[in-house]
Amino acid sequence: MMKTELTGMTEAELIAWGREQGLPAFRGKQIFQWMHRGADFAEMTNLPAALRESLSEKALVQPVQIRLERVSALDGTVKFLFALPDGNCVEGVLMRYRYGLSLCISTQVGCRMGCRFCASTLEGCVRDLTAGEMLGEILAANRYLRDRGEEKTVSHVVLMGSGEPLDNYDQVIRFLRLLREENGIRISLRNVSLSTCGLVPRMRQLAEEELPVTLCVSLHAPNDEIRRMTMPIARKYSMEEILDACRYYVEKTGRRVIFEYALADGVNSDPAQARELAGRLRGLQCHVNLIPLNAVRERDMRGVREDTVRRFLQTLEEEHISATRRREMGDDIEGACGQLRRSVLREEAPQNG
Ligand code: SAH
Repeated sequence: MMKTELTGMTEAELIAWGREQGLPAFRGKQIFQWMHRGADFAEMTNLPAALRESLSEKALVQPVQIRLERVSALDGTVKFLFALPDGNCVEGVLMRYRYGLSLCISTQVGCRMGCRFCASTLEGCVRDLTAGEMLGEILAANRYLRDRGEEKTVSHVVLMGSGEPLDNYDQVIRFLRLLREENGIRISLRNVSLSTCGLVPRMRQLAEEELPVTLCVSLHAPNDEIRRMTMPIARKYSMEEILDACRYYVEKTGRRVIFEYALADGVNSDPAQARELAGRLRGLQCHVNLIPLNAVRERDMRGVREDTVRRFLQTLEEEHISATRRREMGDDIEGACGQLRRSVLREEAPQNG
């Protein structure tokens, strides 16, 4: 029998589920609070042992387990391979900043967007994650921290792991709402960033949810011609439609939009292309994050040297476009998304030929 995943439930839903099991409301409340603090049933010390035992047979409060972790010697970044209840794996990355701990989480096993430079999409999308599994990724990271005697917990979340969050829209929205449940994990949505490759109708829908998350858009090109060469989704939505949706997002939420731009050698990294990009973004409340493309073993695109990044950045600045070079963290533990999972899948794959 499949266990019921409780992490995806609001407190009210969990109380209702508890009632169906014959439990008074306060039990549901207790379970909800324990769960959001990372506890498994065994640790819920104010519940009778027999109840903990019977609940653990039918329900799941910690659906995500850490299967593997790698700690960067450079900056303490931790890369996780998370195991889901059905045996599938996704990646997460814990980054340490002055302002707190930020966790990058996955929203799908794999991805169906097919971007040419990305490792996550090489084998398509296996399945969507549930809201409870997304929350479970954060709970797993918090348990990891607690088990090492660290007092801090995850304060910031970025939906930038494997998957296209807006392709798993309903579960992602449910997850975001869970973050601000009164007795839950309580992560402010102002500390949450959601990254999309540009699903225009969903971007507009998100603008109307009244969820103050930061919208990040993977642009990676100054025009549609170049964008179509690397991102299949660009054949469906033009850059102008994306930028219109961004303007709408800014108007609705009052928050600036972040554009991600991975510089690839001989593709999108020339100063003339920086000027073209600046021209397109002028007047839009935004910020550009530059990063040299991370070469992926299975992909034919290459990154750029530091001086190319600097020149591109400088050109954007000259054009009065707010931009920074994104700090790369955990460079020694397999950077770009999907790489750790792939290297493990590779090790596990039967060797043929
Ligand atoms: N599907 C969403 C969420 C993934 S976020 C999106 O497309 O935005 C992961 C970010 O890393 C995206 O900006 C993605 O384009 C970028 N990325 C993927 N592969 C990369 C690589 N090899 N080098 C640099 N950035 C990469």
